[in-house]
Amino acid sequence: MVLRSTFSQKTIFFKVAFLPFLLILLSLAVPLLAYAAQRDSCFIQHLCLTTIEDNRSAQLLVRNNFDIPIRVSVNMTGRNVAPSKALNNIPLLPGETKEVFHIKAKRGKSWRYTWTSELHPGLSEVQHNEDIRYDLPFSSKKTFPISQGPNGSFSHYGVNKNAIDWAMPIGTKILAAREGMVIGYRENARAGGPLAKFKSEQNYIWIQHNDRTIGQYLHLKENGVTVEVGDYVERGQLIGYSGNTGYSAAPHLHFHVSGSQEQGQAFRTFPILFKTKKSSAKTK
Ligand SMILES: [Zn+2]
Repeated sequence: MVLRSTFSQKTIFFKVAFLPFLLILLSLAVPLLAYAAQRDSCFIQHLCLTTIEDNRSAQLLVRNNFDIPIRVSVNMTGRNVAPSKALNNIPLLPGETKEVFHIKAKRGKSWRYTWTSELHPGLSEVQHNEDIRYDLPFSSKKTFPISQGPNGSFSHYGVNKNAIDWAMPIGTKILAAREGMVIGYRENARAGGPLAKFKSEQNYIWIQHNDRTIGQYLHLKENGVTVEVGDYVERGQLIGYSGNTGYSAAPHLHFHVSGSQEQGQAFRTFPILFKTKKSSAKTK
């Protein structure tokens, strides 16, 4: 009985002493629940990145809505959060969803985080047919200066070392450099500039060739894609319009031919040969 009485007294004490505190907690619960927010960012229904946040934690999920397997890399930087790393080079089958990170704020400290994402088509290793001659990806009646060649110091190094940029006005017609199937595109990005934060803001077209390598046409203008996923395009066919979206210092077209790798980096670029009026030019 004594024990019971003590318990009862303690219970009453708890109810009386903590009632105001409980009321405060309950009044806080509504705004806290309202604060838990989910933000979806689907890139034209293909790649969806979802952040789920409350006042002490944040989670990022990625879903592959392409019809092909892809790899996604996310670079996350955070202050006063743990763990501080995000998953890199995440393989995703069509329709698959994975968690990229789930961070929690350190107790009693202000916190923040930012992230950028990159995606690459394909999962299995491919080889490039070295005999192929590519057309220039714009009208043969036009001439544009190469603003960054292979092994360029701005961004054409490492896995991107075989890429080539042509400076051209926004809205220039982009033509397929080689025939193939359109396997992905994005055209809803608007922003661009020479800062890492723009890496997630890039319009592009991916065309898969018959050796399973992929021609990538980057930095296109908003709503600047004239083909659909599943279209077979001939070389020289209009596929879109150039722009300045994504990680880009000035209006230009970036072109490279890539293939994924089973180990190590998410992808590689191949040296390619272009047919020009006078001769062949190789990106090597
Ligand atoms: Zn480039």
